[in-house]
Amino acid sequence: MGDLSSGEPTANVLIERLATTKKRDDDERIETQTPGIRPQTFSDYPGQDSVKQNLNIYVTAAKRRGEPLDHILLHGPPGLGKTTLAQIVANELGVPFVSTSGPAIDKPGDLAGILSSLQPGTLLFIDEIHRLSIKVEEILYSAMEDFAIDMMIGQGPSARSVRMDVAPFTLAGATTRVSLLSRPLLGRFGIQERLEFYTETALCQILQRSARILGIKIEEAGAREIADRSRGTPRLANRLLRRVWDFAEVQGSGVVTSKLAGDALQRQGMDPHGLDRIDRMILKTVYHQYDGGPVGIETLAATLNEDRCTLEEVYEPYLVHRGYLARGPRGRYLTDTGRKHVEASGSKGWEQDGL
Ligand code: ADP
Repeated sequence: MGDLSSGEPTANVLIERLATTKKRDDDERIETQTPGIRPQTFSDYPGQDSVKQNLNIYVTAAKRRGEPLDHILLHGPPGLGKTTLAQIVANELGVPFVSTSGPAIDKPGDLAGILSSLQPGTLLFIDEIHRLSIKVEEILYSAMEDFAIDMMIGQGPSARSVRMDVAPFTLAGATTRVSLLSRPLLGRFGIQERLEFYTETALCQILQRSARILGIKIEEAGAREIADRSRGTPRLANRLLRRVWDFAEVQGSGVVTSKLAGDALQRQGMDPHGLDRIDRMILKTVYHQYDGGPVGIETLAATLNEDRCTLEEVYEPYLVHRGYLARGPRGRYLTDTGRKHVEASGSKGWEQDGL
């Protein structure tokens, strides 16, 4: 085994890491260049059928009653469409959409400023809501319940609490780590929906839709090949589609075929099971260095020289979803499938990872 704890990530690893974790810059650039790539209505949003159906019912009921929709919490791994769904809900309700994120709201005053400027009915989207500080969170409680906020004005003995009304609004919170949300905050979301990894069929529909909007010629088998390697995640599927398109234009006939997609994605470090280099490192490390586990997440993160949060939010959910890795009270361990996968892969090119 190579040295796992040293060395800078390779370009491929960086591409993959960006592909699954970092969203705003790249998504926004693509969306500005290609308006319409992000679905605007429930009917234009493939996959997540039960979440969509439930939200559609709640939206219709709220519209009929003329009341603001109850607060919504959307949770699940990054890139599955939480932001997109929140925007769709706002569109379907016909209300303004205001977007911010937990880390962007530093102080209670920042949140008070946002809340006091909302138009009635607005859908306020707070991404990474688990990263709000407790002081900011406390302002949210009364805003969510009573559409009012209590702010402390002044300091020391002369400090006093002032109550301010805010326009009725719907909060849509999104999180990749629902377990980090405090009980009082969690309890204030009347609607809670978990997004799951997409099926291959749904990802194929997403890829065909994106290809149509971007003007990419793609065969059905080509879409399936990309879908297989997209970790059940639309954000990654769309990005891989663009990379494969580059190969199709430069090295192929301009059409995304199965063979072309397979070759291009292999060069991006994605194996036929949709695992990238870090996924493979995780499996091999648990197998070789910890005898299949269990191993604590902190220890694993230190051995891999990876950030614990990235492991927990991005990599682990997919490995657990695929049935390679499991979580127990004493840490992470390989399932039988995971062990077999590592053993079978010994001679299948995982050496390219330097492991
Ligand atoms: P999240 O908020 O869960 O991280 P986003 O809503 O930002 O994910 O979606 C990531 C990207 O994937 C966006 O560019 C979005 O357009 C695309 N996307 C997500 N879900 C779907 C879907 N069901 N159909 C088509 N594109 C989708």
